Amino acid sequence: NISEQDLLSFTPAMRQFIQIKRDNPTLLIMYRMGDFYETFFEDAELVHRVLGLTLTSRSSTNSGTRIPMAGIPYMTLDQYLVRLVNQGFSVGICEQLGTPGKGLMERKLVRTITPGTLTDESLLNDRSESTLLAVYIQGKGSAVGLAWMTISSGVFKAMETTEAGLLNEIERINPSEILIADHDRELAEERFPDRSVSALPDWHFDRIRAEKTLLKQFGTSTLEPFGIADSDLLITAAGVVAEYARSTQGTDLTHITAITRETDNDHLGLDAASRRNLEIVRTLRGEQTNTLFSTLDHCRTAMGSRRLASWLTSPCRDQSEATKRSDAVEILLGSMEKLENINEFLKSIPDFERTATRIALGSVKPRELAALRDALPSLNVIAENLSDLDSELLKETAEELPLPEELYQLLCASLKKEPSTFIRDGNVIAEGFNAELDELRALKNHGGQFLVDYEAREKERTGIPNLRVEFNSVQGYFIEVPKGQIDKVPADYRRRQTLKNVERYITPELKAFEDKAVSAEERSKALEKQLYEELILKCKPFCQDLLNSAHGVSALDALSSFAQHADTYRWIKPNFVPVTSVEIKGARHPVVEETIENYVPNDCDLDAQHRLHIITGPNMGGKSTYMRSIALIVLLAYSGSFVPAESADIGVIDKILTRIGAADDLARGLSTFMVEMTETASILRQATDKSLVLMDEVGRGTSTFDGLSLAAAIAEDLVVNCRSLTLFATHYFELTQLEKTLPDVVNVHVAAAESSKNIVFLHEIRPGAANQSYGIAVAKLAGIPRSVIRGAQKVLLKLEERAAQTDDKQLDLFVASEASSTVFPEEELPEEDPTLLELRDQLADVSMDDL
Ligand code: ADP
Repeated sequence: NISEQDLLSFTPAMRQFIQIKRDNPTLLIMYRMGDFYETFFEDAELVHRVLGLTLTSRSSTNSGTRIPMAGIPYMTLDQYLVRLVNQGFSVGICEQLGTPGKGLMERKLVRTITPGTLTDESLLNDRSESTLLAVYIQGKGSAVGLAWMTISSGVFKAMETTEAGLLNEIERINPSEILIADHDRELAEERFPDRSVSALPDWHFDRIRAEKTLLKQFGTSTLEPFGIADSDLLITAAGVVAEYARSTQGTDLTHITAITRETDNDHLGLDAASRRNLEIVRTLRGEQTNTLFSTLDHCRTAMGSRRLASWLTSPCRDQSEATKRSDAVEILLGSMEKLENINEFLKSIPDFERTATRIALGSVKPRELAALRDALPSLNVIAENLSDLDSELLKETAEELPLPEELYQLLCASLKKEPSTFIRDGNVIAEGFNAELDELRALKNHGGQFLVDYEAREKERTGIPNLRVEFNSVQGYFIEVPKGQIDKVPADYRRRQTLKNVERYITPELKAFEDKAVSAEERSKALEKQLYEELILKCKPFCQDLLNSAHGVSALDALSSFAQHADTYRWIKPNFVPVTSVEIKGARHPVVEETIENYVPNDCDLDAQHRLHIITGPNMGGKSTYMRSIALIVLLAYSGSFVPAESADIGVIDKILTRIGAADDLARGLSTFMVEMTETASILRQATDKSLVLMDEVGRGTSTFDGLSLAAAIAEDLVVNCRSLTLFATHYFELTQLEKTLPDVVNVHVAAAESSKNIVFLHEIRPGAANQSYGIAVAKLAGIPRSVIRGAQKVLLKLEERAAQTDDKQLDLFVASEASSTVFPEEELPEEDPTLLELRDQLADVSMDDL
C-alpha cells in the first residue's frame, strides 16, 4: 500500500518492482538483480519463514529508507521453486531484459509458476501430474462447469456436474490448483479447504471472452467439434483455464488443440470416501506405499506409471473398453518372451510426453532432445514386436508408436552425441551442421595450437627458456617472465602486471589473437543458441505425433504392468455380464495377499435376489478386508486389469460407495458420529440399483439403541429404495433378523473357532449369522489383564441374565413373531493350537481402538 506520492521517493529499480507487484498482487515476486533473485517487503518475510532464507534489508528510497529483502543466487532458483510450489505458493519470475550498465535496467514478469501449471522438468514429479481445474458455479443449486488442463501432457477436458457431485469429481481429477471466481471464494474455503485455490476476478468468468480464447487456442471458427458448444458453463470454465495456463507460460500452448467433453457416465463413480478407503493411490495414513497403485506399478516408464494411476483412479464404466484392455493383457501373457523383450526396450524410453510439451513451449533442453533421438529407433522395434499380436488394442498401440523418420534425421543431423545440459554452455549443435559454426569453433580450438607455437617462437626470439604464455579470466592472455630474466625482454613487450617473482606482458600479436579468440567463442555460442532455437521450431510440427506416440507407449507399459502382476500372483481375467451382479469365487485382497502368507480366499454372490449381505462375526475376523477385496476386484475389472480370484463375473456397476472408518476425519474436529452420518446420508442420496455399497459398522458412534435403529433403517433403505448391491458389516446381531422381514437379504459371517479359552480367526466367509461376537476373547488376545477380562465376563453374564428376564422384547426390534437366531455349531479346536500363540503376537501390535 504505497501512495503515488510515496512511490516517487523510491529508487527507479524499486519503482519497477512495486509496479509489477501491484499488477500481480497474488504472486510472490522473484526479482532478478544481477546474480540474485531478490524478494522484498512481505514476500521477503514469507520466504524467510518458509524457506529459512536470511532476512536482510536494502536501501530503497533516495533518502535511504531500508526495506526487508531476502535473496537467492540465480543458479539455485529451481530448488527453491520446488519447495514454494509444493507448499501451494504461486511465484512470478522477473528477469532483466536490458544490457547491464546501460541506463535503467528493464525488468519484466516473464514466467509464472503456479502449482497447477508446472512444466519444468525439475519441478514436476515423475509419477504424477500437475493439473489445473476451473470450477464455475452459476448459482445455488444449479449445474457446475468443470474444465481442467494438464499442460505437461496436453490433456484438456471439461464436464458438467452438480453441486452434489462436485467433491467427488475434484477427488477424481485431483487438481494441484483450482481456479474459481472471486465471489465463490468462501464456498471453496468451506467445501475444499485442503486444496490450493486461486480466486480470479469475477469478470474473468465471461462467456464471450472465454469463447474467443478457446477459438484462438484451437484455431477453429466454432466449438461444435468439441461437444461443448451448447454449454455456457463449460465454455466459460474452459476459457478461464486456457487463458490462465497461457498467461503462466508466457507463450502460446500450441500443443493443445482440442478439448474433450466427459459426462457423468464415462467413469465408474467413486465417491471421495471410497477413494480414500480403498487406498488406491494413497493409504488412509497418507502413505504412497502399499496402495493398489504401488502394488500394481511395474511400469518401465514414468508415462506408463501415470497412465496406470489414471486407469485405477478413473476406471471407465464401459465394459467393452475394459474388456479391450484385459484382452490385450491376456495376449501379452500368452507371449511372455515377447513381453520381456518389449519391457527391455521400454526401459530405455525417456519421458517424451513432457519433452513434447516443452518443445511446444520452447523450453526443451538439449539433453532431452538427444534422449528423444536415441529412443526413436526403439519405438519402431516395439511396434514391430506388437504388430503380429492378436489384440485390437495392441494393434492400435503399434500404429501409434512410430515417429516420422524426418524427425529422427533432423535430430541426428543437428545435435551432438552428448550435448551439454544448457544451451548457454555451447557444445550442443553437431559438427558439420552449420559451416559458420564449424569455422568459429576451429578458430577457438586451433587457438591452442597457435599458443603453443607462439610460446616456442618467443622463447627462441628472447632466449628466455622459462617464458610462458598463459591465460586467466581477469587479465586475458599474457606472457610471464621470471624476475631474473626481465633484462632480456624485447621492446615490443608491454607490461601488464607485476607480481612478486614474475612480470606479465602483452604483445600486439597476442592481443590481436585474444580479440579473435574471445569473439569466436562468443560468436559461436550466440550462433549455437540461434541454431538451437531454430531446431526447436523445426520440431514443433511433430508435437502432436510425439503426444500420440507417448500415448501408445504409456498404454502399452500399463498393460504390460498388468500382465506382469497377473503372471506373478496368478490373477485371472474377469468376465463381464450385462446384468447387475458381482459373483466372485476365491476373492483375495490385491494388497493384503502380498503381505500375509496364508491368505484365505472367499466367495461373493451379490445379485438381484441377494442384494444385501449382512456380515457378522468378531472384530479382527476379516470383515473389512473381505468387503474391500470385493470392491477392489470390481474396480480392477473396470480398469482393464486381471483380478485376484479364481473366477469373477462382474456385472453392470455404476458406482462404488463406501462408508468405512473415519480416523482421518477426526483431525477436522468433526465428531466421528457426525462424519459417519454425513457420509451415510451422501451414500443414500447417490446409490442406485446398479451401485456397489460397502457399509462397515454403521451406528457404532452412538448409543446402542440409537445405533442399532439407525443401522437397521439404513440397511432397509439400501435394499428397498436404492436397491443397491450392499455388503453390510455390523456388530448388531439383531440385524441378522432382517433376512426374515426384508426381501433379498442374506446373512453371512466370518468364521472363528473357539477353544475352551481362546479364539482363532479363520477369515472365512460362511453362510448364516455368527453366533457371538467374541469381543472378550479378542480383548484377552490383545493382552488385556486377566482381572479386567474376568470383570468383563461377570458384567456380560449379568447383562445377559437381565436381557433374558425382560424377555428380549426390547432388543427384538424387527421381528414381531418369535425371535430365533440361526445358530451355527461352533468350530472346535484343540486346546494347544500353536497358531494361537502366533495370533497373540500379531495382536500385540494392534491398538485397542482397532478392537
Ligand atoms: P474386521 O474388519 O473383521 O475387524 P479385518 O478385515 O480388519 O477384520 O481383518 C483383521 C486382520 O485379519 C487383517 O489385518 C488381516 O491381517 C487378517 N485377515 C483378514 N482377512 C484375511 C484373509 N482372508 N486371510 C488371511 N488373513 C486375513
